[in-house]
Amino acid sequence: MADVLVVAEAADGKLKKTTHSAVTFARQAAAALGGTYSILVIGDALGDAAAEAATLGAAKVLVAQASSLKDYVAERYVPTVAAAAKGTANADPRTSATYAVVVGTASAYGKDLLPRVAARLSAGFASDISELLPEGGKLKYKRPMYAGNAYGVCTVSTPVQVVSVRQSAFAAAEPTGSTSPIEQVAVVPPSAAAERVEFVSFDQVKSERPELTEAKVVVSGGRALKERFNEVLDPLADVLGAAVGASRAACDAGYAASDLQVGQTGKVVAPSLYIAVGISGAIQHLAGMKGSKVIVAINKDADAPIFQVADYGLVADLFATVPELAKQIQAA
Ligand code: FAD
Repeated sequence: MADVLVVAEAADGKLKKTTHSAVTFARQAAAALGGTYSILVIGDALGDAAAEAATLGAAKVLVAQASSLKDYVAERYVPTVAAAAKGTANADPRTSATYAVVVGTASAYGKDLLPRVAARLSAGFASDISELLPEGGKLKYKRPMYAGNAYGVCTVSTPVQVVSVRQSAFAAAEPTGSTSPIEQVAVVPPSAAAERVEFVSFDQVKSERPELTEAKVVVSGGRALKERFNEVLDPLADVLGAAVGASRAACDAGYAASDLQVGQTGKVVAPSLYIAVGISGAIQHLAGMKGSKVIVAINKDADAPIFQVADYGLVADLFATVPELAKQIQAA
């Protein structure tokens, strides 16, 4: 029997949707291992995040709260996450650990935090998992390789395993109707060397639009939009209540902000509807959006690779079509 620890992501006093995907993985892993799962909520102003985590069917919710954790800095979070995984600050994870699997989502936060947690726990790390393949009480992980061109299956042989899951591959966990007990856990101070790392500022892009990785609808644009990127895409995104995304070529050319990039080296999204406007459909772009439920492509080249993954395709000039589409949806 082995237990699973989910490292939650909280912001503005709430759990981020990313956490719910890691909980879905934890449910599957705990069932395969015959154990339970708990959720660790870490930070300072946690608001309702712990109470929200307590609705997700965990054996318990662990809360690590301190003013030193106010602004996320990996070096300050890692000792506490590792101690919670071990069950005590001093236990050696190679000989004794409370949790056999530590999991989070492969968001920017998870990509930054979890490899460090793995190092601290002397644990093997399976990153960006798209599927859990339980086999005889052991866990095998399927993960995309070569920008999603191939899938590999791996196992981790260390006593503790750290895993990050691809948000788009695991549905968001729903509340179970029960309430988990909430326990405070010790906050472990960082080492003297880590103390030298200082939080300076967080330049958050303020937008009325939904967050790209959490949005139900994404309108995404490519290099073809040129300087008219916002002028053409924003009205369509507005009528659909959508987030705006972009190809790397559009970002590199300065037509779109770099935090809008979708793809292998950008964000991974899986909205209900993804509208690709003037995007060719390079494999590196598809790696970030092909998990979307419905894909619509607008491109003037009928042979563009984006049409191979699109559910609906329109071969047309985007500068004529997109404004007209926004107008028709507005009028409907
Ligand atoms: P293009 O390939 O130039 O395509 C433009 C499209 O617009 C064409 O299909 C054209 O037919 C169409 N078009 C032109 N004019 C019109 C019009 N008037 N109306 C309608 N359609 C029109 N790319 C990403 O997106 N995300 C990544 O994360 C990413 N990571 C990468 C990582 C690596 C290591 C490498 C090597 C590349 C990566 N790329 C990534 C780049 C990727 O290979 C492509 O170069 C990029 O996605 C192309 O962007 P695009 O489709 O906007 O541009």
